[in-house]
Amino acid sequence: MFEILQRLENTYNGKDLSLLKRAYDFARKAHEKQKRASGEEYFIHPCTVAGILVDLGLDAATVAAAFLHDVIEDTPVSEGDIRKEFGEEVLELVVGVTKLEKIQFHSKEEEQAENFRKIFVAMAKDIRVIIIKLADRLHNMRSLNFLSIERQQRMARETLDVYAPLADRLGISQIKCELEDLCLKYLEPEFYEYLSINIDERLKENLELVDHVVEEVNKMLSDSGVSGEVFGRRKHLYSIYRKMKERNKTLDQIYDIVAIRVIVNTVDECYEVFGKIHNKWKPVPGRIKDYIATPKPNMYRSLHTTVVTNFGRVFEIQIRTYEMNHAAEYGIAAHWKYKENKKEADDLDTRLSWIREVMEWQGGLKDSKEFLNSLKGDIYSSEVLVFTPKGDVISLPKDATPLDFAYSIHSAVGNKCVGAKVNSKMVPLNTVLQVGDVVDIITSQSSKGPSWDWLKIVKSSSARVKIKQFFKREMKEENVKMGRVMFEAEAKRRGYSLSELITEEAFEYVSAKMSFNSQDEMFASIGYGAVTVNHVIVKFIDFYRKSQPQQEITKFIRSTSKNSGGVKVKGMAGLLVRFAGCCNPVPGDEIIGFISRGHGVTVHRHDCPNLKHVEDGRLIEVSWAEDAGNAYNASIKVVGSTQIEVLSVVAAAVAQLNLEIVSTNGRTDNKTKQATVDFNIRLNSKDELNSLLTKLKQDSKIIDVFRTAN
Ligand code: MN
Repeated sequence: MFEILQRLENTYNGKDLSLLKRAYDFARKAHEKQKRASGEEYFIHPCTVAGILVDLGLDAATVAAAFLHDVIEDTPVSEGDIRKEFGEEVLELVVGVTKLEKIQFHSKEEEQAENFRKIFVAMAKDIRVIIIKLADRLHNMRSLNFLSIERQQRMARETLDVYAPLADRLGISQIKCELEDLCLKYLEPEFYEYLSINIDERLKENLELVDHVVEEVNKMLSDSGVSGEVFGRRKHLYSIYRKMKERNKTLDQIYDIVAIRVIVNTVDECYEVFGKIHNKWKPVPGRIKDYIATPKPNMYRSLHTTVVTNFGRVFEIQIRTYEMNHAAEYGIAAHWKYKENKKEADDLDTRLSWIREVMEWQGGLKDSKEFLNSLKGDIYSSEVLVFTPKGDVISLPKDATPLDFAYSIHSAVGNKCVGAKVNSKMVPLNTVLQVGDVVDIITSQSSKGPSWDWLKIVKSSSARVKIKQFFKREMKEENVKMGRVMFEAEAKRRGYSLSELITEEAFEYVSAKMSFNSQDEMFASIGYGAVTVNHVIVKFIDFYRKSQPQQEITKFIRSTSKNSGGVKVKGMAGLLVRFAGCCNPVPGDEIIGFISRGHGVTVHRHDCPNLKHVEDGRLIEVSWAEDAGNAYNASIKVVGSTQIEVLSVVAAAVAQLNLEIVSTNGRTDNKTKQATVDFNIRLNSKDELNSLLTKLKQDSKIIDVFRTAN
C-alpha cells in the first residue's frame, strides 16, 4: 500500500504526481474501515489495480481513476465530489468503470460472449476504461480463493469468455495470459495441478537443450554482427492446455512448451536472423508465420518459426524487435509509455487517433487502418446490442425500436406488445434503442395485434415479415367484408362511391404508400382495425383528385346536397346550402353562413375557427328552419384507456339514444398510453348531442369527452 507511493514517485512527476497523490489520499479516506472478502483492508484493492496500470505505463488520469474506481459504487462519495477534486477526465473514467460494473454476463453461449464483449467496448467509449476494468478483474481473479466455489466458477467463466479475449484483442498479452491461467486454475483445478507439476519437470529435463539452442542462436547473432537478446520462455499454461484439448494430445506430444525468443533492434535484423536460422535448421512446414508483414488484428508483430534442431528436438523460435516485444506485452497500453500528451477528444477518430499514431510509429499504416476499423466496427457497428431483463444480449439492426426487440424475442411477444420499458422507464414504441439498454416488453392478452403503422416503425426485416404474417392470418373473410363496408360508408359520407375511388391505378398508388399486397389485405386491415379507414381513404381521394381535378366541383356539391335542408338563409331562397365538414353544426347550434364562390352557402358553427380570417362581406346570417328534422353529423372526441373500451362504451350509448356512428378514427398516445377515438355521429338535434355527451361523461370508463370542430 505504501510501496505504491514510492512507485508513483519513481514514475510520474509534477502535476501528474500531485494528482496521483491526491487520488491516493482521497480513495484511502473513502474506503477507510472497509474490508475485502479476504479480510484485508479494502484500499489494498484500488492500490493494486493502480499498480498494475503503472506497470503497464498508463497515464496519470487512468491511474488516478484506478485509485478511485470503486468509490462511487461502494462509498458515499458522489460524482460531483470527484469532478470537483479531480476534474472531468478522471470523473469520466471512474463513471465508465462504474457503469461497466453493473452489467453482468450470464449466458454461456459463444455468440453471447462476443456480443457482450462488443457491448462492453461500445459502452466504455474510452478504451482506458476497459484497461482499468481489466486490471480490476485481474486483481479480483488473483484474490478469488476467498470466495465460494460457485462464485469462483462463475467469475472464472466470465473472465475466460469476456475479459481474457478483450485483453487479447487489445494486445495486452501480460494480462491476457495471467487471466487465462487463473481461469484454468478455478475451472479445471486438477488439470491445472497436473500441468504445473509436470511442466516443471519437463522444463528441468529440457533445460540443457534450451540452453544449447540459445547458445547456438547467440553465436549466429555475433557472427553476423547483430546485437540482441536470446532466451527461452515457457509458454503460459492455458495455451498448453488449449493445444492439448484442441489437438487431442498428451503433454509429451506438445513440443513447444518453451519458445526461444530472439530480440533485436531492427526489422532488417529480424529477417536476417530468420534466414540464418532456416539455413541451419530445417523449418517445419506450415509453421512459418510472418506477423511483421501481416500483423495480427491486435497489432501483434513478430516472426515465428518452428525448426528441427540438430539435437533432434523441435523448437518454436520467435524473432522480433524491442519495440515489437514491448507492444506484444502491453498492446494498446504501450502507447502511454512513449507519449506524454494525450489530447482530450470526444470524436471517435480522435479518441482512437493515438492507436493510429502508435501504428504509424511502428511503420504499419495499412494495418493500422485495418486495426482501427476492427475496433471501430465494435463501436459504430451497424447493429445495436441490448439486454433482456434477464441479461441476455439481443442484437438488433441500428436504429431498432422496442418493436424490433419484441419480435426478435418471439412473434407472439411482438403481436401482443402494448408498450415497452427501456431502463425501467415507459417509452414510445418508436424509441430508438441505444447500446446497453435494458428492454422490457409489456404484452397484453387483449391486444388486437400489430397496427399497420408498425411496419413504418420497425427496422428489422424479420419483424416486418412477422407483422405481415400476422396480417395475412387476419385476412379472414369477415374482416375483408367488414373493411369493405366501412370503406364504402366512409366514401359515401365524403361524397364518393367505392368504385370511383378504388380503381386499379388508385390501389397501386395507395399500396405503394401503405404496403398492402392486395385489396383484400387492405380491407381486412381496415376491418379488424390495423389501420383506420380514414387513413386509407384520404389517400384514395388524394389520387382521385389528382387524376380528375376538373370534376371536383360537382363532387363537392353532390356531397353536400343530401344535408342541405333545414336551414334558412336570410333574404334568399333556393340557394344551395351545405354544412361545413370542419365543425358539423347540428340544429340548436348557433350558426352562420359563408358564401363560397360558385357553390352556394356553407353553414358553419358560429365559433368555427375556420371563419376567423374570412372577409366580412362573405358571411351571411342563417338560421335553423322550424322543421329541421334531418340528420346531421357531429364530431366528438372521446378519451379512455383502450380503444376497444371507448368504442364499446360509445357504441352502447349511441344505440341507447337511437343515434348512428358514421365513422371512427382512433389512436393510442405513445406517452400517456391513453386511447383517443374520434367519432362522427349522425343525430337530429343539439339536444341529442348533449344527452350523448352527458351520458359519456358519466361513464367511469371514459376519461374525457368533448365536441370537436374537425
Ligand atoms: Mn474494483
